[in-house]
Amino acid sequence: MTGLVIKNTGSWYLVRSEEGKDIECKLKGNFRLKEIKSTNPISVGDKVSFLANEDGTGLITEIFDRKNYIIRRSSNLSKHSHIIGANLDLCFLIVTVTKPITSTVFIDRFLASAEAYRVPVNLLFNKVDLYDEDETEYMNALIDLYSYIGYPCHKISALNNIGLDELKSNLKDKITLFSGHSGVGKSTLINALVPESKLKTGAISDYHGKGMHTTTFSEMMELAQGGFIIDTPGIKGFGTVDMVPEEIGHYFPEIFKFSHDCRFNNCIHINEPGCAVREAVENHYISESRYKSYLNILEDETNGKYRK
Ligand code: GDP
Ligand code: ZN
Repeated sequence: MTGLVIKNTGSWYLVRSEEGKDIECKLKGNFRLKEIKSTNPISVGDKVSFLANEDGTGLITEIFDRKNYIIRRSSNLSKHSHIIGANLDLCFLIVTVTKPITSTVFIDRFLASAEAYRVPVNLLFNKVDLYDEDETEYMNALIDLYSYIGYPCHKISALNNIGLDELKSNLKDKITLFSGHSGVGKSTLINALVPESKLKTGAISDYHGKGMHTTTFSEMMELAQGGFIIDTPGIKGFGTVDMVPEEIGHYFPEIFKFSHDCRFNNCIHINEPGCAVREAVENHYISESRYKSYLNILEDETNGKYRK
């Protein structure tokens, strides 16, 4: 039988069969790992084959090839990586410009990873009901920047049901991964979109201004109108995984565009002569904040070899 992995607890998997039945499955003992180094061999979103046991549980025997997946390094220093979702059609990155602040470095790291795995991303600016004039202005500047690069942006309020109808139509019949710092309102949003999900939401009561709700493993929920949402643990940082220095620029669409005019085709856009990317930054065709994020990933991926 075949099915879709909709939940992963670490020790067992919940698999939705083609007939729509949910079956608790374990992995076959000699299950062969795919080449990817991760702490979880199987992720939500994976399609698998399984054998039905007499007691109603199942045994996963095979995993089908993935269309794509997103893997996250647990921290900048950690060697461990975790696949947070497979076979994704779309990612929603939920960001807030206050309570908590989502940094552009964080946004850009997420976007670069998603580019590397070829998953389209929409940016959702949540809590628009809270923003004062300055914050609104800052949000609009970010929206201008990111929509210009090609990332669709949405202004929403999960709490006040602003902008959610448009999201619902984007989600139909897709597998969409939801991500963001804890406290940005991810659970509130998912509860608004999937009322039966009843995720716990955390009041921002602690002094860090971060929500208290934490999910440890990814979980998938079915939408009434068709499609699935993958909820991921609230993340603090986004460790990119194994990018070759010369390729990092490929994951910033606007940097990639200008890099064709660099004198050297292995240019990494730091201080090489004839670098069209640096020139574009100086002339404000590429934003300083995006270039800064690029350097930040480059420095990280090369353990500080390329430090500006
Ligand atoms: P999560 O950690 O991302 O899942 O965040 P939660 O959904 O738990 O939300 C964190 C806090 O932000 C809670 O107190 C929510 O009520 C609040 N919140 C979520 N969305 C909004 C919103 O659109 N506007 C406002 N003002 N507060 C929100
Ligand atoms: Zn260059």
